[in-house]
Parts: sequence; structure tokens; C-alpha cells
Amino acid sequence: MAIGRFPERIVVIGAGMAGLVCTLELMKQGYNVRLLEANSQPGGRIYTMRDQFADGLYCEMGAAFIGAHHFLTLRYAQQAGVQLINIPVPNRSLSYIDGRLIIDSPAEPAWWPVSLTAEERRLGYAGMLEKYLKPGLNATGNPFMPGWPTKQAVLLDSMTMEEYLKSQGASSGAIKLFEIGYMQMLGDGIRKVSALQRLLDLKMAGSGRNTQTIVGGMDQLPKKLALTIGSNISYGCAVTHIEHSNKGVTIQFTNSGEVFTICCDRVIVAIPSTVLRTIHFSPPLSKEKNDVIQNQLSTSVTRTVIQSRTRFWNNLSSFTTVNTDLKIGWLLDATFTQTTSKRGLICSYSSGESARELSRAENFHSAVSEVKQVLPELSHHYEGGTVFSWDHNPYSRGAYAWYKPKQMIRMLPALSAEQGRIYFAGDNTSLFPGWIEGAISSALRAVNQIISSRLS
Ligand SMILES: Cc1cc2nc3c(=O)[nH]c(=O)nc-3n(C[C@H](O)[C@H](O)[C@H](O)COP(=O)(O)OP(=O)(O)OC[C@H]3O[C@@H](n4cnc5c(N)ncnc54)[C@H](O)[C@@H]3O)c2cc1C
Repeated sequence: MAIGRFPERIVVIGAGMAGLVCTLELMKQGYNVRLLEANSQPGGRIYTMRDQFADGLYCEMGAAFIGAHHFLTLRYAQQAGVQLINIPVPNRSLSYIDGRLIIDSPAEPAWWPVSLTAEERRLGYAGMLEKYLKPGLNATGNPFMPGWPTKQAVLLDSMTMEEYLKSQGASSGAIKLFEIGYMQMLGDGIRKVSALQRLLDLKMAGSGRNTQTIVGGMDQLPKKLALTIGSNISYGCAVTHIEHSNKGVTIQFTNSGEVFTICCDRVIVAIPSTVLRTIHFSPPLSKEKNDVIQNQLSTSVTRTVIQSRTRFWNNLSSFTTVNTDLKIGWLLDATFTQTTSKRGLICSYSSGESARELSRAENFHSAVSEVKQVLPELSHHYEGGTVFSWDHNPYSRGAYAWYKPKQMIRMLPALSAEQGRIYFAGDNTSLFPGWIEGAISSALRAVNQIISSRLS
């Protein structure tokens, strides 16, 4: 039976994808919702950098890709009415290792400059991935089925990804290869990250086939959803204190230096743990909750963007991305869907220790030098650029959550549990940090927690 007054007044904190979806779904259910956002625009870690580049070019600093199996993301993209475009899958991959550009394709497998076993040489890169990853991907199980985590999932969570790869027979040369590219981009890399999280994330990333992006920039998605919410969003409101009791919640926030309070029946906090730990709760949250908020780690990511007078790399036929063993990490053509200018943007995606090093402004030119090592022609086309560090962004303080062994399964229940009238959303409370899909699924879970508490 329903208890208390209705419509209840709910405050949602944070207008990233999780907060936007919470607000939309609660509004649909007839709740009286106010969404407080610290920034002057929605989207959070969906951030399309504009206005820094010539000819209207833009570059994604955060989310850039939507997988074919990201059903929730695709559903809200359709609801928002954004247009999607397929990302081409090159028929060969480029890597830059030990100062050499290496081309790998099924027709002409690369000779990798690392020490591989005879079997690994025969399998090639794709064959090694298949051999070493498939058993682990199966062993993660289906986290949405009752009975999860299974014994196998718990075992995977007790080891690092490096330990898992070794247990499958991967040589140190193969592990070195896997440290160059996508597998390395969670936390401080495969030598540190939980094998369970690494493998679940690879499942979410998918094979790359039928991956899409949004025409005109990823920020179209949160911006269009925010338009539907309209004046129920208040921008420029940075929440600092939350006071709560069994009667209601009082939220304190600053707006242009002034302090305001707002009272409500319930609150959804849809911000990363790294920022949540700066908010003062009275009374304090439970020890268990506080422990996971204080200790959840966040991946360092730095993006360096370089504007080039021409897209000289089009001569390299299949260049859309290059995995490098340099600090710049992964290089990509950020403008392959933007066809109105002859200029182009090359963007690097650096994570972990390298990202922390490159995040220092004085290191911009060392990043440019590294890009020139990989693409020497850039010297004739360079027009400037910029660097963006997620660690230095005050409202995320990192890019996405990551776990060391024995953290993920232990922390997840406490991250997603409500505490009295306070509910928690955000990709970091989901099984899939670093994915819009994780953010949306966490929002739907938080909304369900509110609805069921009202009905119980
Ligand atoms: C480098 C990078 C690459 C990524 N690539 C992809 C990708 O290709 N595909 C994909 O699906 N996902 C990707 N992601 C992940 C995706 O961007 C996130 O999972 C998703 O956007 C998180 O949404 P959220 O609502 O949980 O959090 P956020 O987007 O962080 O939203 C939180 C919001 O809360 C606000 N806020 C914080 N503190 C306060 C406060 N005190 N008061 C009020 N407001 C506050 C913030 O300003 C922000 O708007 C990537 C992320 C990064 C960083």
C-alpha cells in the first residue's frame, strides 16, 4: 500500500546520463523532480570539446562509441532523436612498437617485435586473443542471472588480468603486446586490474563491429534529453552538504558563491565516488557505504588533441587508430565523421601512469613530439592543440572506476544500496563503469528502488 504524500519531491544530483535518466523516468511516474547540476551544461563525462578548433571541428573527450549490444543507450538515443553513424572497421590494424609502425592483417600477419612462443606466432594477434580470452569471457558468467557471482567469477575477481593471462599460458611477450592498446586502458593496466572487471569490460566493448557514434557529436544525446526535462534542471548548483532523517532530506548547494538549501522527500546522488567523497553527510553514511565511497579507484585518462592543416593520414589508407607503446597510448582520427573541413584532429587516449604524466600542461609538447614520431608528416601540418585531463576535472576527478583484485564483488552491493532516503546512481555503482550503458542501468535500478520503497 502506498504511504506518505504523493507526488513526492525528489532531488537528483548530477546531470550526467545517470541523473538525466533518473529525472526523466521519475517525471514519467508523476514525481516532482528537481535536477541539480554543478556545471552550466548537462552530460558530465559525455563531453564534446567544441570552440577550441577551426572550421567547427569538435573532439570527444569522454564517451565516443555506442556498441551494437548497448540496448539501453540505443533506446535513449532513439528517444532523444539523435542520428547514429557506423564506425568503419579497418581491415588491418596499425601499431607503433619500439619505434616501428607495424601493420597486421589476416592476409599479412605482422611479425611482432616481442618474444612469442612458436604457437603464439602461428596464432597471430587475433588468434592469441581468442585462445587466451575466450575461457575467461565465458567464466565471467551472466551477471544478470540469479546466483551470480558464480564461483568462477569470484575466482576471476581474486586475480589480476596479468595473472589470468599467465594461467591461460600467455607468454611474457604476449602480455607485453596486450599492454599496448585497449586492454591496458582500465585503471593502472592489466598488471593491477581485477581480471573479472577487465573481462566484463571487454564483453561490453564487444568486437567493434557495428559500433556507432552520434552524428554531430556525442553531447547531442544528453543535451536533447535535458531539453525534455526543461526547467526542472538547475545548472550552476554544486551540492556540498546532505542532511537526512527518516522524515526527509535537506540539501545544501552553492550557486555563484551564495549558499542555498532545498528540502525533499528523497534524493538520488548520481555523481562519481571521487566527487561524492567531498560531500558532507549528516548524519554520516554507514561505515560500509563510506568505506566504498572513499576507496573506489578512478582511472586516469588524458586526451591530447592536435589540429592538422590537412588530413595527410588519409594517405595511410587504413589509419583511423594506432596503438602505441608511447605515453600517448592510443591515437585516433577524431574527425573521420566530420567531412566539412579539410583540416582534421588527431586525438590521443592515454591512461594510467602515462595519463598522470601527460596531464601536466608543460608536457603537451612532449605529447606532440610522440605523435610526430608515429606520424612524422604532422611536422608540416601542425596548427596547435590542447590537452584535457579527467583527473583535473573537478566534477569527475578521474575518468571511470576500476577495481584491484577482491574489490569488485565486495564493493558493488554497498555502492548500489540505498541509505535511508538517499539513493545512489552513476556508472560507478553499476557492473559496467566507463560505459553509458552502466550509467543508464544504474539509473533504472535507483528509480526502481524508489518506486518499490513507496509501494512496500
Ligand atoms: C575518456 C572516457 C571515454 C569513454 N568512452 C566511452 C565510450 O566510448 N562509450 C560509452 O558508452 N561510455 C564511455 N565512457 C563512459 C561514459 O562517459 C560514462 O559512463 C557516463 O557518461 C557516466 O555518466 P554518469 O551520469 O554516471 O556520470 P557523469 O557523466 O560523471 O555525471 C555526473 C554529473 O554530476 C555532476 N556533479 C558532480 N559533482 C556535483 C555536485 N557536487 N553537485 C552537482 N552536480 C555535480 C557533474 O558535473 C556531472 O554532470 C567514457 C568515459 C571517459 C571519461
